[in-house]
Amino acid sequence: MAIPPYLQDKMMTSKKRSRGRALFNLILIISLGLNVYLLKFSQNPGLNALAEKLKIEAAEAEATENNQKTDLAQTPAQATSKTMKLGSSPEKVNGNVSPQPLITPVSYVVPQTEDNKDLFTLHLKIRNSLTYSVCQAMTKEQGCQMMSAYMSRLLTWNFDINKSMRNGDSLDVAYENIPGKNRFRILKMVYNSQLYNKVFEANYFSAEKDDWGSYFDAEGVEIAKRVVDKFAPVKNYQEITSLPGDFRKGPIGHRGTDFKTDVGTPVYASFEAKVLRTNWNVRANGYCVELDHPREGVKTLYLHLSRVLVKPGQYVKQGDKIAETGNTGRTFAPHLHYEIKSRGKKKIVYNPFNFKHIKSYNKKIPLEERENFQKTISHYDTILQKG
Ligand SMILES: [Zn+2]
Repeated sequence: MAIPPYLQDKMMTSKKRSRGRALFNLILIISLGLNVYLLKFSQNPGLNALAEKLKIEAAEAEATENNQKTDLAQTPAQATSKTMKLGSSPEKVNGNVSPQPLITPVSYVVPQTEDNKDLFTLHLKIRNSLTYSVCQAMTKEQGCQMMSAYMSRLLTWNFDINKSMRNGDSLDVAYENIPGKNRFRILKMVYNSQLYNKVFEANYFSAEKDDWGSYFDAEGVEIAKRVVDKFAPVKNYQEITSLPGDFRKGPIGHRGTDFKTDVGTPVYASFEAKVLRTNWNVRANGYCVELDHPREGVKTLYLHLSRVLVKPGQYVKQGDKIAETGNTGRTFAPHLHYEIKSRGKKKIVYNPFNFKHIKSYNKKIPLEERENFQKTISHYDTILQKG
């Protein structure tokens, strides 16, 4: 332990005087004691954790307020705003679960990449909530909230993160830092669920012919679902960043499904329709279209567009191009907000992946890419084991 400069000064002068030396020893002992106490204290999740929790909750409350005012889609830091309280399961939860989160830089160079990317691992036990647990392992400055948002986007396809997480579930992640505001890319995430007695894993993989990589389980089945092209509002997108019901602190939560994609991506009518209105409340929605589908009993909304190609009163067929995606209105990054709402009941919105008139599927890694995929997975496993 380094002796602070002011103590060093004291040491110099006290050499000549025994009284001074005694004083110095006293101070040294007190300082040692204090250090030992602080060290112990910092490992004690009690007060320290409480203070941290309060800080996080304050930040979350602030972020939620933003969420309610803004369609968020792409800002993961804000996307974590919901406090994910865990369902308690006393018989499974060990009262003394004390997280021993580790953030370990790995000096492991990816062989196939030209630039030596920073690779990291994170090994943690869930406690209280996902965001809380991740923010115990990383600081806010290191981007714990963003990391937690990325994790929840993946986990949400497996189970309800508000209800199904349990204290003591383990979470192991390998990730890399990437330039730009997205900061990280999770390469592999392994979640061990006590409730389901199952391990969920997600491996990042970018197939040769795809514009964007995405996440697959060990068998090469994509984690996120996709809408069958015939019904798809957009066919080419990077990822789904939000589903209906996200951000539950609000009265209803997020009403749509957000597809992150480049500006100018074609937008298609999900079903045959009459165009009800376009470009209303442009300040919030940006350029937008609303279609009426009496046969399916719903209306569909397409927001934040860059171009609208239809007019109110016009009839369109299923799959007709009606617009192009954009970044207009209250949005942080280019994406399509796609909403399916009941014609009769204003408050009812549908998740496209459980809506009876829409077919969806999980993409599989094509055969010719399987070998490459297996290599990628074992590479990730090496990183995780080393970390
Ligand atoms: Zn949205």
